[in-house]
Amino acid sequence: MTPSSDPFASPLHLDSLAVHAGRDDLAALGVHAPPLDLSSTSPLPDVESGGASYEAMATGHHPLAEGGHVYQRLWNPTVARFEAALARLEGTAEAVGFASGMAALTATVLACTTDPELTGGAPKRHVLAVRPLYGGSDHLLASGLLGTEVTYCRAEEVAQRLRPDTALVVVETPANPTLDLVDVAALCAAAGGVPVVVDNTFATPVLQNPAALGADLVLHSATKYLGGHGDVVGGVVACSERFAAALRRVRAVTGGLLHPLAAYLLHRGLPTLPVRVRTQQAGAQHVAAWLAAHPAVARVHYPGLDDPDGLVGAQMRGPGAVLAVELRGGYEAASTLVRSVRLLTHAVSLGGVDSLLQHPAALTHRPVAAEAKPCDALVRLSIGLEDPDDLVADLDRALCAAAATPAGSLGRPTGPARTAEPVGA
Ligand SMILES: *Cc1c(COP(=O)(O)O)cnc(C)c1O
Repeated sequence: MTPSSDPFASPLHLDSLAVHAGRDDLAALGVHAPPLDLSSTSPLPDVESGGASYEAMATGHHPLAEGGHVYQRLWNPTVARFEAALARLEGTAEAVGFASGMAALTATVLACTTDPELTGGAPKRHVLAVRPLYGGSDHLLASGLLGTEVTYCRAEEVAQRLRPDTALVVVETPANPTLDLVDVAALCAAAGGVPVVVDNTFATPVLQNPAALGADLVLHSATKYLGGHGDVVGGVVACSERFAAALRRVRAVTGGLLHPLAAYLLHRGLPTLPVRVRTQQAGAQHVAAWLAAHPAVARVHYPGLDDPDGLVGAQMRGPGAVLAVELRGGYEAASTLVRSVRLLTHAVSLGGVDSLLQHPAALTHRPVAAEAKPCDALVRLSIGLEDPDDLVADLDRALCAAAATPAGSLGRPTGPARTAEPVGA
């Protein structure tokens, strides 16, 4: 290949894209690693070109070369490189980065319900959401904070629940925390042209590309696998140019920016994303099979063990590395398990190189309405890169302690949640 030829002229495989995407301009800059640009503002050549660039970006488009980036809330080159890389991995034209997964969902809801380019004129207030969802997403939609009205339904009910003012269908697959899978192609067909956002946080672009299945918007909490090292909070939405422009308009106005340092770390982590995800997945398969045979475990939720619709291998390239267990000893056993592990860490969040576990009903899904709250006996595990035998040994010890905790011996903190309560992931 000559140095000037486009490395993407022939389609690259995912692993190659993960290494090279978003780095097209580096050779011309004379650098090998992406530069970290922390500028809050940029020098402007003159009023006219600076103003024209401002106008382009404020209306959701790219900056004009002659007018500069103007201001970090409108554009940042480090963020733009990560966005370009993620778009390539998801197979979309563009991607837009945000301060967190929740900021990404907020911008998606605001854009789809209020942007005339997307609603076709007047605002549309109605959002259809397929449960289960991450607790924070469920809470945001239920709160009405964004001026929307939500209907929760099952995936099979989407077609019959659509209204003339439905602006968006929200779905998560695999879903947090029970790993339920939804057939994305079938769901998009049922949505009949209403925009569909798929939260692809658990699968990552390594295992699933919802845009290829018909999704209009592919959302990630980049805090999880994309970051992968437990040191970044961010969000990103991969989509067409039209949706990206609307999302950038919202981002420019509301300011839910992805910080350039976060974007730098996210971009730095992408080359290892495929190897991390596949190795973590192999560990999760090992741990899930072991847990399924353990006498203290009533049920393991893991697409690698339980996939009634045959979506693993079809829609997904693998079952992923998050799983959940229901313990026979109920809440007391769950509480003791998370307290007794040593190698795993009792913490919210997931997708990092180290294994975490947490109790969704008490933590990540605390603000979810009672009828949709995960059961008290459920513990969610995110498997990291440790040797799975060490994880199994740790879990074995902790499950023994859990089995010895008498039922009814602990108070339950998982009753009706207050709203407006900050929640972890
Ligand atoms: C964590 C999470 C979110 C929220 O992301 P933040 O980065 O914590 O704001 C959204 N969706 C899913 C599936 C998540 O796991």
